[in-house]
Amino acid sequence: MQYARTITADVLEASPRLGEQVLDVQHVSRGFDKNQSELLVLDDVNLSLREGEIVGLLGRSGSGKSTLLRIIAGLIQPTSGDVTYMGKALQGPAEGVAMVFQTFALFPWLTVLENVEAGLEAIGVGPQPRRERALAAIDLIGLDGFENAYPRELSGGMRQRVGFARALVVDPTLMLMDEPFSALDVLTAETLRTDLLDLWTQRRLPIKSVLIVTHNIEEAVFMCDRILVLSSNPGRVVAEIKVPFAHPRNRLDQAFRKLVDDIYAKMTARETGEITKKALDLGSRLPQVSTNLIAGLIETLAAEPYNGHADMPEIARTLQLEIDDLFPIAETLQHLGFADVSEGDVSLTQAGRKFAEFGTQERKMMFAEYLLRNVPLAARIKKVLDERPGHRAPRVRFEQELEDFLTDGAAEETLDAVIDWGRYGEIFSYSDKTENFSLADVET
Ligand code: ADP
Ligand code: MG
Repeated sequence: MQYARTITADVLEASPRLGEQVLDVQHVSRGFDKNQSELLVLDDVNLSLREGEIVGLLGRSGSGKSTLLRIIAGLIQPTSGDVTYMGKALQGPAEGVAMVFQTFALFPWLTVLENVEAGLEAIGVGPQPRRERALAAIDLIGLDGFENAYPRELSGGMRQRVGFARALVVDPTLMLMDEPFSALDVLTAETLRTDLLDLWTQRRLPIKSVLIVTHNIEEAVFMCDRILVLSSNPGRVVAEIKVPFAHPRNRLDQAFRKLVDDIYAKMTARETGEITKKALDLGSRLPQVSTNLIAGLIETLAAEPYNGHADMPEIARTLQLEIDDLFPIAETLQHLGFADVSEGDVSLTQAGRKFAEFGTQERKMMFAEYLLRNVPLAARIKKVLDERPGHRAPRVRFEQELEDFLTDGAAEETLDAVIDWGRYGEIFSYSDKTENFSLADVET
């Protein structure tokens, strides 16, 4: 299988005792209709899961993780490819597959117990066994004492536990989790992860395998036996990494840190290196990164101890940023010509170093110059404004142009990013109220 490119060969041994195959995904692709053309979100994804495994699906936001999970849950169909669950071709939602989401829509008028029972009622379990099983799930997940509480009385962490209880109560074989800890604060998330892993290693969970989607490398290394790295645009499994550590894992262990760093380096190399070295097109998607973050990263890099050059994992840790936060900023610096990113390192260019030394006004001028030179959409907006008699243009004009290349949401985000940058560089003005662009010195 072409996807099985392994990142760290030295961690490849130590495979856990695995049982039968639970899930097999073969050549799954999925596109979404976009005007006449299809926007390919998942491209030839292959993966399989055996009994006894926790497998992580790691990728940036927008890489298609949720789409893949929804396909596996039988909620949507792949455009092509096959999903086999417990040896049978998947046709719609399968019995024994439970899903855990970032946040759960609990029924506000039902108690914790009733919320957990609701899942069983839906599959026709009678009142008595329903109650017994719900109580057992509540007990297992650490909610005892809260049976009669209503969702509004619970903290975010407790509500998420109700969600887990609701997933577990149906006795699932496979548990699919879509960023289940990402809406929780750091400590609550860690407690819940640890509790869940304890239950897993003590074999007290009914589940045979877990597929967890995350954009957090540390979380993946903390929880998973194996990590599949998904690239973006389109989503493809580009690497498979075994995690050879026994539970409970210690985030401060050297080997743990090294694996996190390795994955980080590989992901940055791939995501920010190869992809952004190509010059941008008019229809390239741009991340929404504020000029404050751009200037902030340039300043941090220029200063001691980095002096213009840093290791991405290290700087991420220093700034307490996750991949979803740091990648887009580094990527933007690279697009603009202020930094080079390769193999997990980021280095300021000559221009980046100069920017760091400049005062506000000089920075703005320099930023404008680099923006117009390197970001075709910014140059396009400027050109249209220059050419129009009134030097004005409505937002929708550019949004429609972008929508030929991007989804509506991505077009909107890209335009918002360029608006922020153009305002900072004072190459145009934009009024949020009238949604009109104008040249910087023209009233909107
Ligand atoms: P992730 O979970 O990795 O953040 P998603 O699977 O939610 O990614 O989305 C991947 C891409 O697919 C995004 O660009 C998103 O806009 C697009 N997408 C997801 N669902 C739909 C849909 N129903 N229609 C059109 N585009 C969609
Ligand atoms: Mg998602």
